[in-house]
Amino acid sequence: MIKKGLGTTAIHGGDQEGDDIIAPIYQTAIFKHPNGRQIRGRDLKYSREDNPTVNELEKKMTALEGGEDCLAFSSGMAAISTLLLSRTRQGDTIVTSKEVYGATLILMRSLEKFGLKVKCVLNDELEGEIDSSTRIVFVESITNPTLNVPDIKGIAEACRRKGATLAVDNTFATPINFRPLEVGAEYVIHSATKYLGGHNDAIAGVLIGPREGINDAWEWRRNLGGSLDPFAAFLVIRGLKTLKLRVEEQNKKAQEIAEYLEQHRRVNTVHYPGLESSPCHEMAKELMKGFGGVVSFELGVGESVIKFLGGLRLIKTAPSLGGAETLITHPASSSHKNISPEERRELGITDGLVRLSVGLEDTEDLISDLEEALAIA
Ligand code: PLP
Repeated sequence: MIKKGLGTTAIHGGDQEGDDIIAPIYQTAIFKHPNGRQIRGRDLKYSREDNPTVNELEKKMTALEGGEDCLAFSSGMAAISTLLLSRTRQGDTIVTSKEVYGATLILMRSLEKFGLKVKCVLNDELEGEIDSSTRIVFVESITNPTLNVPDIKGIAEACRRKGATLAVDNTFATPINFRPLEVGAEYVIHSATKYLGGHNDAIAGVLIGPREGINDAWEWRRNLGGSLDPFAAFLVIRGLKTLKLRVEEQNKKAQEIAEYLEQHRRVNTVHYPGLESSPCHEMAKELMKGFGGVVSFELGVGESVIKFLGGLRLIKTAPSLGGAETLITHPASSSHKNISPEERRELGITDGLVRLSVGLEDTEDLISDLEEALAIA
């Protein structure tokens, strides 16, 4: 088989002779039992277990991340929770970066009530915390919202030595910029709601990993019930066709905007791994082909942020990222509001921090919107 580029794989990955060019939507909950034999294993029967449109997305994501198998879920959080429940048992230790999406951190901590031990540490401390009691290590390849890039190779090596499983949330990087399995991770997760879907119109998640582990997770998915709807799967498949184009364009725009913000007198600090001034720049250059489409930056505290957000016209204040529309959030009062102020401080999430997900509008229009809002901040 000819090795295909990622642009081709996003469109044709998993295609088989006789497949339709455009994946049909199997808008059905049920499938007829096979004639003349008993139903077996993953024979199609009920869409909470399997659905051909969802399976199509799973084949594409397996190919894009270079894994053995994939499951698609009703959200990124369903993918994360199913992985954690399927891979751990009472008494195990989960070591997680604290620099992950707020809901992920809250989920991990809530698992303590089932007898799991959860160690939450900064990215730089992860390697040192992994020991033989560690079942699973969880990290984001570009962290939210301060855009740090952990040493995934080093963490993967420590996991290998201690027999722990490394799971990487690759939502911010996407397989276009980085493929965690190539540097030793065992599982990759995405909120497909973000770049994979790419149009802010579907909630979905995917989990890619070794065949055996994915089989276990399949049992958990069908019992927990976080399966993906076929129409949402169709939307993500459609989004994937332009993934490479979009991500490369968003990398470029985010770099230009980060450089613009860095020289602006009203902006205190800019977090973007593509900036030479970023403490993660060297690590990002070593690991990644591109630095992503999200830029975070700090304004003065208090009124300044409110005035700035209120002054934006084109850029909308809304959650999420990775779509065609440029969106901005204030993490301290949204994604990270349920985390204590001390911990927010430790994570660098100040009250003046805003996170910009650069979309696909013209860069000059985005900069002129930022310019006008910064003038009144
Ligand atoms: N992982 C990351 C990095 C995220 O940013 C998010 C959501 O913002 C999630 C996971 C959760 O994904 P979903 O909202 O699709 O459940």
